[in-house]
Amino acid sequence: MTHIFANWKMYLDVVESRVLGETLVDTWKTHDNINCVVFPTPLAAVDVTEICEGTPVSVGAQNVAWVPRGAYTGASSAMLYKNIGCTYALVGHSERRYIFGERNIDVRKKTEACLEQNIIPVICIGESQKDRDNGKEEYRIKKQIMRVFDGLNIGDSKIFVAYEPVWAVGTGIPCDPDEAEKMHIYIKEQIAEFTDVQVPILYGGSVNADNVTGYASSSHIDGMLVGSASVKIEEFSRIIEAVAS
Ligand code: PEP
Repeated sequence: MTHIFANWKMYLDVVESRVLGETLVDTWKTHDNINCVVFPTPLAAVDVTEICEGTPVSVGAQNVAWVPRGAYTGASSAMLYKNIGCTYALVGHSERRYIFGERNIDVRKKTEACLEQNIIPVICIGESQKDRDNGKEEYRIKKQIMRVFDGLNIGDSKIFVAYEPVWAVGTGIPCDPDEAEKMHIYIKEQIAEFTDVQVPILYGGSVNADNVTGYASSSHIDGMLVGSASVKIEEFSRIIEAVAS
């Protein structure tokens, strides 16, 4: 099974999100080997979840609050997303960490909130360009994994990690597939220090229809988290076809 997750970020309004969701499910061919999840803007989450209900496409939240309900202006919790039928959530995306100041402790709390609500967390980790320039990519990854996984009670739940080097996200500069594979092997080793649960690891960062097979052909890369290329239906369909074939 290859996982292809589509982060629509804040690229689309509600109408555009509906159209993309409808087109995706209407044009979906039978792909038993693909698990596709889309992450729409929160404003479109209800509509897109209704559109995808009963189809092979699942829907997730781009971000969650860690408390279920309360006086948290502007926030939406894992519980509220669960109530509308979302089954996944991105946690700790680099844009949340670097633009909105999320820390590893926040990522941990959000991961726990997802697990409590039976939402599958997709924990995003990755080093910055500065980390890499200083040879600290493994240090950064190790720390991010430790802060989330140490003592985490996963139980029978599913959990994903997305390796998204910050310098590759939204830049058009993808990580070389061999380097991504090396990092995935390291990530799997680090996670194994904390849990026996098999955690699929996705690669994300400037994936497109032309470079996707470089990642999909690695046995250590379990899928891709796609940003900008996922909101162009022709390109996203080409990504799915390339991986499915
Ligand atoms: C992302 O948002 O997770 C991402 C990988 O973006 P992009 O594909 O645009 O680099």
